[in-house]
Amino acid sequence: MTSRQISLLPQNDNTNGWSHILPPRTPKSPLEASIRADWVVIGAGYAGLAAARRLAENRPDDTVALLEAGEVGENASGRNSGFAIDLPHVIGSSKDELDGSHRYMALARSAIDYHETQIERYGIDCDWSQPGKYQTAVSDKGVRDFLEPFARELEALNESYTWVEKSDLDRRLGTSHFKAAVYTPGCRLLNPAALVRGLADNMPENVTLYENTPVTGLETGSEIRVTTRKGEIRAPQMILGVNAFADHFGYYIRQLLPFAANASLSRQLTPAERDALGCEDNWGVTPANAFASITMRYTNDHRILIRNNIYYNPTLRESQSYQDEIARRHKMLFDERFPMLPDVNMEYTWTGYLCLSQNGAPGFGKLDDNVYCSVCQNAIGVTKGTAGGMLAADMACGIDNELIGYMQNLGEPNKLAPRPFLDIGVRARLAWELWNARREV
Ligand SMILES: Cc1cc2nc3c(=O)[nH]c(=O)nc-3n(C[C@H](O)[C@H](O)[C@H](O)COP(=O)(O)OP(=O)(O)OC[C@H]3O[C@@H](n4cnc5c(N)ncnc54)[C@H](O)[C@@H]3O)c2cc1C
Repeated sequence: MTSRQISLLPQNDNTNGWSHILPPRTPKSPLEASIRADWVVIGAGYAGLAAARRLAENRPDDTVALLEAGEVGENASGRNSGFAIDLPHVIGSSKDELDGSHRYMALARSAIDYHETQIERYGIDCDWSQPGKYQTAVSDKGVRDFLEPFARELEALNESYTWVEKSDLDRRLGTSHFKAAVYTPGCRLLNPAALVRGLADNMPENVTLYENTPVTGLETGSEIRVTTRKGEIRAPQMILGVNAFADHFGYYIRQLLPFAANASLSRQLTPAERDALGCEDNWGVTPANAFASITMRYTNDHRILIRNNIYYNPTLRESQSYQDEIARRHKMLFDERFPMLPDVNMEYTWTGYLCLSQNGAPGFGKLDDNVYCSVCQNAIGVTKGTAGGMLAADMACGIDNELIGYMQNLGEPNKLAPRPFLDIGVRARLAWELWNARREV
């Protein structure tokens, strides 16, 4: 029997713009009793929600308790930029790399299919659409070092794309900020908080979701005992979907890199401002360098999203003064890109916490005889977290699914240096990354 106290818990600062623009929602009741279940799943982000649903489908006679520290949609899963991306960011050109990309796409597309099935089945209103996305570059170096190889690699994968030159791109996006883009059609865009709420509110009958139920203690052994603030659960098996918090549960110690990322959502543009912008409706832009430059969206309800700034943050907390500074910076970046919209303010600015590994590998699979997980989604959790959650459930139920092998092929998170050497190394590496990509801002 191993026992741990979980001292660092998620906090909701109520800043998430995606949930602010939705109607109010009543959270499910917290756990306030001592209960038993056949399965306990911890964390109701994409990974935990997909795991709980899949367990319930695989074992319709079993009971599944899903525990969430806060309210669904307020976590990273509800705070992201809302890109369900079907392609790897870096493909490579060797046969092994191309095979790896094919496996990656199979995983990502299985997650997209899963979401589309749930959205259709339950009528989830989350602005889900398929406008594709523009992978952009700001500098000649970005075009040469990133976009051109990316286009060649897409050809080698036999994936369709369009090379978009500057003049055409300016017209499509309403900004003259970019040099060129590679457009790919498979990406879906969504309001992530609405999707997470919709998934959580339409769980199979044998899943009970407990919100505002932070797990504070865990005992593992032949039986799992999970302690919460006002209750406890005993279950024979557990799936962990707590992403950047996994090492606080005693797993992946010194293998995870907790990062923070910031996003802002503008107020809705007026009809006159939309005319001044004069671009296509509903587009999404991802940058050549995700650390240095900006992800942007023009949403169906005519807001502009700016996601900039990913940084190492092992405390998983951010100060109000830093968020204020980010809001000012996002407004400045907005003004540089959209000088025709000087009066448009950023209505919401927020921080979310994600989990990276040094080698980009996820935390997936069997951790103990009766403990499985899907964590560390490396900032692409809409698809990878979802696929990981479903496959962790299949693995736990002994179901043969070739995608489990694809997931395992992505590897294991590398072991990291101890702190404070780790902190110094990660910050130095990030500073180098930002300097190297400085022309891409
Ligand atoms: C600003 C931003 C933009 C991003 N953009 C994109 C994007 O466009 N596309 C994309 O694919 N990804 C994006 N990401 C990354 C994506 O959001 C994450 O990879 C994804 O949400 C991870 O899902 P998850 O279920 O693994 O973890 P999470 O969403 O972090 O969920 C983990 C859950 O575990 C719960 N938990 C933790 N500890 C406890 C505890 N002690 N007790 C109970 N519950 C606990 C947390 O409350 C949380 O709800 C972005 C992230 C951010 C922050």
